[in-house]
Amino acid sequence: MSTPASGPVLEARGLRYALGPRSILDGISLRVRPGDCIALLGANGAGKSTLLKILLGLLRPQAGEVLLDGASLSGLGRREVARQLAYVPQSHTPSFPFTVMQIVGQGRLPFTGLGRALGTDDWRAVSQALVDMHIEHLAGRVYTELSGGERQRVLIARALAQQARLILLDEPITGLDYGHQRRLLDHLQRLAERGYGILATTHRPEHALESANRALVLHQGRLLADGAPRAVIDAGLIEQLYQVKVRQIEVLPHRFFVPS
Ligand code: ADP
Ligand code: MG
Repeated sequence: MSTPASGPVLEARGLRYALGPRSILDGISLRVRPGDCIALLGANGAGKSTLLKILLGLLRPQAGEVLLDGASLSGLGRREVARQLAYVPQSHTPSFPFTVMQIVGQGRLPFTGLGRALGTDDWRAVSQALVDMHIEHLAGRVYTELSGGERQRVLIARALAQQARLILLDEPITGLDYGHQRRLLDHLQRLAERGYGILATTHRPEHALESANRALVLHQGRLLADGAPRAVIDAGLIEQLYQVKVRQIEVLPHRFFVPS
C-alpha cells in the first residue's frame, strides 16, 4: 500500500469531556494521518460519537485540544476546517425537501460560500461523488423520501464532494445492505490508499479486521487500544467490550467470531 507523505494530520491531545459530573471521555490522545483507515470501536454509549464531534470542533472539550495540521481547531474558521475535514453523521434530517443533488452540492459550500451558484469544478466534484457512491440515478429524488441506506450513501457522497482529505464517519455501514457495506468498506480503503485519512466508527469487529489498517478502542471513557487491527481485536477484547463470549476462528488472512 502506498503511504503518501503529505496531507493534513488531525491530532487530539489529552481530551477530557464530561457532562455535568459524569465523565464521558478522559485522557484521549490520537492522530489521524494521510493513508490511515481507522476503525473506532466501542460499546453503545462508549463515547464514539462524542469523540468525533470533538475532533470536528462541534463540541468543545473541557481539557486538551485538537490540532488540524498543527493549528488549534478552536482558532480556525468553519470553512477553513471544512476544506480539510469532512463529517458523515449517523443520521441527518433536513428541514427542507432538498434533492439528492442539492444535498451533495452542499459539500461545495466551503468553496462557494452560501447563496452562490456552483461552478464547473463544483459540478465535476458533485458528479464524481454521485458516481463513486453509485447514486447517479437518485440525483433528482427528494432526500427525505429515500431509504436509510440510500440516505447514508448520499451523505458520504456529500463528504466526497467536499474533497476534504480527512473524513470522519459515524457508523457509515449501519443500515446498508450487504453489497453496499462491502463496496463502502472497499471505497474507504481505496481513499486511504490515495492519501485520505479515514476514521470510521463501527459495531462490527470483523469489518475493522478486514478493511482498517488501525483500530482504536474506546472503553469506559478511555482509549483501551490503538494499533494494528489483528493485534488489537480478539475474543478477549470482544468479551470485555460487549460482554459476550465468542470463539475466535482464524482462516488466514481472515479472523472471525462465532458464539461460544
Ligand atoms: P456512542 O457513540 O459510543 O454510542 P455517545 O458519544 O453517543 O456514545 O455517548 C457517550 C455518552 O454520553 C453516553 O452515555 C450518552 O448517553 C451520553 N450523551 C451523549 N450525548 C448526550 C446529550 N446530548 N445529553 C446527555 N447525555 C449525552
Ligand atoms: Mg454513536
